[in-house]
Amino acid sequence: MNTKMKINHDIIQKRSVLKRMKQWRNERNIIKYFLNRFEWHSYPRLSVVRAYPIHIDIEPTSYCQLQCPMCFRQHRKVEKQGHMSFDLFKKIIDEIEGKVYSIKFTGRGEPLLNKELPRFIEYVKGKKFGEVALITNGQLLTESLMHTFIDSGLDRIAFSIDGLKKQYESIRYPMRYEEIYAIVKTLYNLRKSREASKPIIRIQSVHTSIEDENEFLKRWNPIVDDILFLFYKDYALRTYNDKQARYACPLLYQRMMIHWDGTIPMCVNDEYEETILGDVNTKSIQAVWKGSCYHQARLVHRKGLRDKVYANCSKCALHREGHGKSFWGEEKIIRDTLCNEALC
Ligand code: SF4
Repeated sequence: MNTKMKINHDIIQKRSVLKRMKQWRNERNIIKYFLNRFEWHSYPRLSVVRAYPIHIDIEPTSYCQLQCPMCFRQHRKVEKQGHMSFDLFKKIIDEIEGKVYSIKFTGRGEPLLNKELPRFIEYVKGKKFGEVALITNGQLLTESLMHTFIDSGLDRIAFSIDGLKKQYESIRYPMRYEEIYAIVKTLYNLRKSREASKPIIRIQSVHTSIEDENEFLKRWNPIVDDILFLFYKDYALRTYNDKQARYACPLLYQRMMIHWDGTIPMCVNDEYEETILGDVNTKSIQAVWKGSCYHQARLVHRKGLRDKVYANCSKCALHREGHGKSFWGEEKIIRDTLCNEALC
């Protein structure tokens, strides 16, 4: 069966060319950055598997203090809960330094709930990564933490901010809109007063929660570097999945998710760990990434069978109708791939 590769089209970026160029100037190593972009977009299409993932998402904790209605947590409970230990984090970093381009603190919970997070971020200071980033709802971001992040050279911080005023407050309850605005503004002013260029401040918002896009941009543009609109993930599975079932997922060539206890699920969208591909406690990251479970998953996807073989893929919120956007030349760039290998 022919399968096509659809590359990560689930965001709309709203930033000026000038801001984009300023960000490029801020990259730690501009040549490595563009090489990374090349690998990210071409390796899945060419079925190239690096020795290590291009990017690794690390989950500092599975706990979250909010109850946002669009979150996967509203549909099913996370059974195993906990915080990542410093020892496990160190083990991960010591293996992947200089081999993985970027890491991001994210996952199913709010990273700032793990009290060890500042220590994690300080530990990666000066280590060989192209980018270290953090996604947060911002509620627990104190001024002292902001100083720590600036001092440790955190490259990027992304705040999840859905909607304006009442809309935001109904989604991110009990957070207040003016409260999060003040937190982001404090970070922006602190960075400026310390004449630091990082962290780059991004806000990201589920697109359907923005009632007035112009107003949203007008309010946030002066105090952030980057605004992303994310497509709504249909965890309730109301929309049709089959249409895109034949797309092989690029994530299996690009990134790995490591949960708080070292479990490696199939991807960042396998929140319930329906397909576990490895465990950092018992195997090296390289052994898992190049191992038989990942290999089989890539083959199944290439054969266009992902929704039949993997429960997480059949319910994936990412590849549903209406999710993502096409871009110029997509049809030309997408390359049909035929898998000749038997399933292992
Ligand atoms: S669940 Fe499957 S299809 Fe969805 S992002 Fe993960 S690997 Fe890709």
